Amino acid sequence: MAYASETRERLRREIETIREAGLFKEERFIHAPQGAEIEVEFPAGEAARPVINLCANNYLGLSSHPEVLAAAHAGLDRRGYGMSSVRFICGTQDIHRELETALTAFLGTEDTLLFPSCMDANAGVFEALFDDQDVLIADRLVHASIVDGMRLSKAMRDTYKHADMGHLEEKLAEHQDRRTRVIVTDGVFSMDGDVAPLDQIVALAERYDAMVFVDDSHSSGFMGATGRGTHEAKGVMGRIDIITTTLGKALGGASGGCVSGRAELVELCRQRARPYLFSNSVPPVIVAAALKVLELVGRTTERRDKLEENARYWRRLLTEAGFDLKAGESPIVPVMLYNAKLAQEVSRDLFAEGIYVVGFFFPVVAKGQARIRTQLSAAHEKHHLDRAIEAFAKVGSRHGVLGLGRDEIVARFGL
Ligand SMILES: *Cc1c(COP(=O)(O)O)cnc(C)c1O
Repeated sequence: MAYASETRERLRREIETIREAGLFKEERFIHAPQGAEIEVEFPAGEAARPVINLCANNYLGLSSHPEVLAAAHAGLDRRGYGMSSVRFICGTQDIHRELETALTAFLGTEDTLLFPSCMDANAGVFEALFDDQDVLIADRLVHASIVDGMRLSKAMRDTYKHADMGHLEEKLAEHQDRRTRVIVTDGVFSMDGDVAPLDQIVALAERYDAMVFVDDSHSSGFMGATGRGTHEAKGVMGRIDIITTTLGKALGGASGGCVSGRAELVELCRQRARPYLFSNSVPPVIVAAALKVLELVGRTTERRDKLEENARYWRRLLTEAGFDLKAGESPIVPVMLYNAKLAQEVSRDLFAEGIYVVGFFFPVVAKGQARIRTQLSAAHEKHHLDRAIEAFAKVGSRHGVLGLGRDEIVARFGL
């Protein structure tokens, strides 16, 4: 008991430290389905208020789309609620195979394996395919789940400076003695919204005999002319060895992920990837809805086109209002504030004005890089964005950040 109470005391102190550092994360309760306008209870216990949502990964607006809901209901009726099994025992239905085939066609790969989430796909893929004779060379800004997945593998790990092709080339040259070299990157980077130079990465991979791994979670469904992802946007479809992605963002937003790519790599994941072997199947209701999502995305490019138009419009409004943005071509539009406290205050004031955004600061982004990450959706109409910019301009002006660049913001607010 003495040990237990000391441990509890230590953990309580750690929570207090997080709170004192201003890094405590509060949950905000949404009293509605996910969408462009939601009802949010914040702080907890207050009455829920209507806000415009600019922080969801609901890029295509499909999270509560009527056809997706109908497909989910039908899936529930036809194939039940839960599988009560992992895939390889008795957790695979015909619709799981159908979804894998549909994802393979959509992504332009050879085969696909579903995982409970993309976090699980990333946790399983490196360990299943590579060992201590190989090297994983990752962009320094890859998603946390990739970092964790690489740690679970016995392969040697190295990194290159974010999107720095010269540095990547040095690393590829340095590791020529390894059995396999794997270049590891996100397609669209979640915090900055910039797009990996996959065309250049593939060229380097071919020159230095390396494989390419891309996590396209923030791209699948909308990047590229028909929304297949970053590989389509950069003209390298069919030349990416391994793609991981999520069904939890643009593709319906529920959950589920996959590893897709060269047939033998996917087969080896089926044999060995631990989150596939030891975690429950994706529920039938999600599989049925995801099939509908892919059908909708394949039917027309209207949604990804509208998303692109919304992102362009929103960037223009913010720029004209005098905000400092990270340049980019994705629907992730970071408003840079650099100072963590300022980012928190601005997001709080925006919430009071009916705009739901979240301030990001260390350790989610680098120190001195605090920001408000805004994300667009095909569910947004122009009137949402027009209302949002009014609030941004009002709050930005109140805090005196409009028209200021990085150095001026840092001079005024510190880091
Ligand atoms: C969101 C995200 C994930 C996690 O996806 P889940 O399916 O929610 O586990 C993995 N990688 C990247 C790059 C992401 O943005």
